[in-house]
Amino acid sequence: MNDIATPENSRPRLMQEPFVHDFVQAILERRQIYLNAAKVHGSPLYLVEEAVLRERAGQFRAAFERQLPSTSFYYAMKSNNLSDVSRIVLGEGFGLDVSSGIELSTALGLGATDIIFSGPGKTDPELELAVENADRVTVLMDSPGECQRLMALVERRKKRLRVGLRLNHHTVGLWRKFGVPMEALLPLYETIKDHSYMAFKGVQFHSSWNLVPDRQVELIRILGDTLKKMPPSFFDDCEFIDIGGGYWPSQGEWLVSDDPLGHQMIPASSIETFAQTLGQVIREKILSLGAFRICFEPGRWICNDAMHIIIQVIDKKAPDLVITDAGTNAVGWERFETDYFPVINLTRSGTMEKPCHVLGSLCTPHDVWGYAYFGQEIREKDILMIPTQGAYTFSLRQEFIKPLPRVVVI
Ligand SMILES: *Cc1c(COP(=O)(O)O)cnc(C)c1O
Repeated sequence: MNDIATPENSRPRLMQEPFVHDFVQAILERRQIYLNAAKVHGSPLYLVEEAVLRERAGQFRAAFERQLPSTSFYYAMKSNNLSDVSRIVLGEGFGLDVSSGIELSTALGLGATDIIFSGPGKTDPELELAVENADRVTVLMDSPGECQRLMALVERRKKRLRVGLRLNHHTVGLWRKFGVPMEALLPLYETIKDHSYMAFKGVQFHSSWNLVPDRQVELIRILGDTLKKMPPSFFDDCEFIDIGGGYWPSQGEWLVSDDPLGHQMIPASSIETFAQTLGQVIREKILSLGAFRICFEPGRWICNDAMHIIIQVIDKKAPDLVITDAGTNAVGWERFETDYFPVINLTRSGTMEKPCHVLGSLCTPHDVWGYAYFGQEIREKDILMIPTQGAYTFSLRQEFIKPLPRVVVI
């Protein structure tokens, strides 16, 4: 980012991008609700909108249920690990996708009865917790080594466990850490198919961060070719194909540029387009081989729009420089140096965006909320909102210098 040369009193520019303008307009219609929350609960806040979360969960399910005869949905807890978020999504008929013993304990504590446990490097105590709760947990194994450790565990406990295998198409680069290559499916299946305590039930893949369905389509085609080579008993045993998460919210990816008002947007497909495209290739390449249940593990798409961060201006140090009561330890990374989200002044609301450094109160310059705000003007005590911060912020929050915001569910 360049320094901002334009002071507040210079002529503000209308947003060129209608996407941000419409987005801000919709939020301003609910301005009083957000201001009331700040009035009652103070600042800073993580504000969860239960209705938005329910609506997203329902929309996601409906989109894919229209395309496929048998489906299951698992919310990826790591995308927002607030237990209220998981509780609300459970209420919408989702199961939970957990990636650690901590997340598994949370899921069990919430009473979830359909949990999938995936992720690299599961420890023995984590696997033991899964085996103890074998009636509620399916373990998606990440490697042959993990399979061996799990076999020893279930034999010792004499407990039958539902398992699946995570497959991966990346043989180079950092994504190769997940799962096993496609050709490892057959030998691993043969290792456990007659085991007394290992019940092979499915296959998983996950490729994160898809603005469009192309990569998932390619993986489904490759998976179809892999499954074709499996023996007949596989098709009796295998109940589900889990195609993971990685759906980008339909508003697209918003990025900052050198111009504080010149935001960039990379468009994303709607979830209905994802469902139509993936549904077609799944029917053609997977369901033509067997009547599998298709599982989904969305995280970001479900929680992104359902949590906002509310902050307050503490100090106005220049016409175009304000310091707020919360820092980016609330989001855990220097998100707004690259990602753009509008900073919305709820107190002095307006539909024009004006250049201004809106910064946090941490003793580091990498503590940026934004390089502009929407509003008439900005003053001390004003309540500001950073909308749609539900995904990969709350889970990454850190104890660093300032206290963390309180959570309020409305
Ligand atoms: C992180 C993760 C997800 C969720 O990804 P999103 O991009 O948040 O949808 C789903 N499945 C697995 C295995 C993951 O690791």
